[in-house]
Amino acid sequence: MVQTTSTEICALHYHNQTDGNCAQCGLPICNLDQHYNVNADRICQLCDNISRAKKIVRYIQIGIWVIIIGSVILLWQLLPQEQFLFAFLPVILMLVTPYILRPVIMKLYFKGLQPKESILPILRYFEASGNLDHYKLFKKFLEKLTDEDLEEIKNPLFDYLVPALAFNYSKLPEEWENELVEKLRLSEDEFIEILTKNYKKQIIQTAVHSAQSNISLFIFYLSEKADDKGFIKAYIKEITSSNVVESTDEELNTIYNKLLEDVYLYEERFNELCDELKLEKEKVLISQLLARYEPPLVPKNQLEAVLSPAQLKEKRMKEEIKISGEPALISGETVEVQEEEIEFKDDED
Ligand SMILES: [Zn+2]
Ligand SMILES: [Zn+2]
Repeated sequence: MVQTTSTEICALHYHNQTDGNCAQCGLPICNLDQHYNVNADRICQLCDNISRAKKIVRYIQIGIWVIIIGSVILLWQLLPQEQFLFAFLPVILMLVTPYILRPVIMKLYFKGLQPKESILPILRYFEASGNLDHYKLFKKFLEKLTDEDLEEIKNPLFDYLVPALAFNYSKLPEEWENELVEKLRLSEDEFIEILTKNYKKQIIQTAVHSAQSNISLFIFYLSEKADDKGFIKAYIKEITSSNVVESTDEELNTIYNKLLEDVYLYEERFNELCDELKLEKEKVLISQLLARYEPPLVPKNQLEAVLSPAQLKEKRMKEEIKISGEPALISGETVEVQEEEIEFKDDED
């Protein structure tokens, strides 16, 4: 059984107990991490590297600007008058700068850190950002671990890996499992067994109480791979547990909105699973939860697309007031539709 240790160990030195968190990124750190920011708060080596890297990157950017401006002026002088537009070609360099800089930045971030010191932090970063560059870097660090390192770091590695995968499952590249299993030097069965046996409770708790979009796909995937209906049953039971069902409408649409978004998107699949597993009571509870769910409004045009969900909701409410407040402006047909809707609602009650 893998012990959950990630809360007690240093993310950079997994042999050590943590004695606090980085003041900037929150990673657990230990007494070996003695870096401080300008406010004299203790930070991790990565944040220390990042602040230094930012300065270097700024110098590189200034350097690139100097080169661009210099070459534009030079070309302007050298080119015949009718070709003066070509003098602006070096400006294109500005567009590619981020792509040139990205690998340099990543190198600077992990400067002075060994793969075994970098691997847990990069997983935490990937978990939070969903950035596939972080995932690629994680795979690179994983490859560089010796068999001995990997054996030693295995428990904390899975503690960090499981939420990172669960939160970003839908973003993972197609061949992620084969690649990862190979780099973890495990068989596929071993990998799935660790996830569905050792981390079952943690995964289900996370998928329900700290859900992210599409996290249920990760559960469907795991239960299929492990051929374990008990896994999905435990998931549905947790979704319909009193913690969720008895929460207020507001809680439901804030704390559990990502969970309900998934249930709403994959409603048919949930219903089928409930039928298959004979979870009649849970099926009813799921439909009741969905009836209380307010799906996010879909923007109707480009202007609305830039609004936040809350702003969009406010706009719709104002529009509704405007419509009901000025009936003369609406055609008879629309009013009829509205009345039908009201009648329908009454029937439901
Ligand atoms: Zn940090
Ligand atoms: Zn440490």
